[in-house]
Amino acid sequence: MNYAYDDQNIFAKILRGEIPNDTVFENEHALAFRDIRPQAPVHVLVIPKGPYVSLDHFARDASPDEQVGFFAAVSAVCEAEQMPQGFRSICNSRDHGHQEVPHFHMHILGGKPTGPMLSV
Ligand code: 5GP
Repeated sequence: MNYAYDDQNIFAKILRGEIPNDTVFENEHALAFRDIRPQAPVHVLVIPKGPYVSLDHFARDASPDEQVGFFAAVSAVCEAEQMPQGFRSICNSRDHGHQEVPHFHMHILGGKPTGPMLSV
């Protein structure tokens, strides 16, 4: 698979500071910020700082430090947002996954029941 990264995508612009964001957590390898169109009381996006298009790209090519940093950010978000009754995590990839922004991100959704896994 050839993963061509478009550095003009909106999350690349957020990482460069060209577009503001509501940051929840940041470390050396990842940034977590609130989704601009929240689908639940908690809707946070966790993104790596490196140029990865999708989950499969990140899983294949990110370094161990980048992967640990990403999941450390996921952990920090879950801790900070206090969702004792649980949450939904979603990584959409490419067309069939309905991915809109071509920079790998994990949605963390909580604060209310999120319903069945898929509605097609
Ligand atoms: P996808 O469909 O790619 O998995 O999700 C992309 C998400 O990015 C959507 O939930 C959308 O609301 C969010 N989003 C798009 N543009 C912006 C933006 O400029 N700022 C923030 N915070 N979220 C955005």
